[in-house]
Amino acid sequence: MIVDPVLELRGVCKSYEGFSLRDISFTLPRGYIMGLIGPNGAGKTTLVKSILDLVRPEYGQVRVFGLDPREHGAEIRSRIGFVHESPTFYELLTVERAGALLGSFYARWDEVTFRGLVREFQLPPDKRLKTLSQGMRTRFALAVALSHGAELLLLDEASSGLDPAFRREMLDRLSGVIEGGEASVLFSSHITSDLDRIADYITFIRAGQVHFSTTKDEVLETHALVKGDMRMLDDALRKLLSGVVTGSFGFVGLTARAGDVRAALKGETAVIDPATLEDVVYYTGRTGGGGLRLHGNDA
Ligand code: ATP
Repeated sequence: MIVDPVLELRGVCKSYEGFSLRDISFTLPRGYIMGLIGPNGAGKTTLVKSILDLVRPEYGQVRVFGLDPREHGAEIRSRIGFVHESPTFYELLTVERAGALLGSFYARWDEVTFRGLVREFQLPPDKRLKTLSQGMRTRFALAVALSHGAELLLLDEASSGLDPAFRREMLDRLSGVIEGGEASVLFSSHITSDLDRIADYITFIRAGQVHFSTTKDEVLETHALVKGDMRMLDDALRKLLSGVVTGSFGFVGLTARAGDVRAALKGETAVIDPATLEDVVYYTGRTGGGGLRLHGNDA
């Protein structure tokens, strides 16, 4: 049991027409970075919104800093730094004026930190927000999120519009915030290499459900890619694969039980390679032909 969770979801359910988040449960301990991964439409943004009380689950329990967002939404939002894919602010204000206005909403706003980040992130203080590029808007949102002593940083696809150099800088900064013991981070991203780099925990959402939520080390230690020719792919092996893609060159399957796979192969020489987070998202749930991608030694 995690003694001091910053975030705890238990059995959270939310339905839209044609889509349901079902029985979502996971815990983020204070002072760690959790990556939220999953295909498009899996429910990641819906889940993030439930933390901010922007979406109300029909069942289940959300606790942020031990508080219920339905009763303490404003307090929770004031303690969270939220950065998402297409931030919108006071479009007609300049960077400097918008910062001052947003700062007035936060009890722990640190103007010196904000000005320092504006300089560091190379934001033009006198430019109106509506004239900024998407990446610059994200930089602005990040500067705000890092200037009010947030205890939890929620980043929902925040890095997709950033150039590689700034993305790296953002990751270093997030790691720095964690090392300083200042905050915890929930970071949803399709750029799984970013999460490979900084996440402590990974929660994988697929079709509205938690496929797993555990430490990144455990994900990477337990998952592997198995590659071989089609005659090896019997029922016993298929049962050990959480996804498989087949093609004219054979099969590539994902397993969370590499040891059992070795035993099931009974001496057959398949290639077993480490799986990345991207492999886990790509292969999970696939059941057959089409789009065989070659990895590792085959690439
Ligand atoms: P992506 O990676 O593409 O951003 P996601 O995992 O963040 O996807 P969500 O944005 O949470 O996915 O959407 C999950 C599902 O819920 C989608 O099918 C979406 O169409 C649906 N959905 C989200 N918000 C609403 C809404 N307000 N009304 C109806 N359906 C919605």
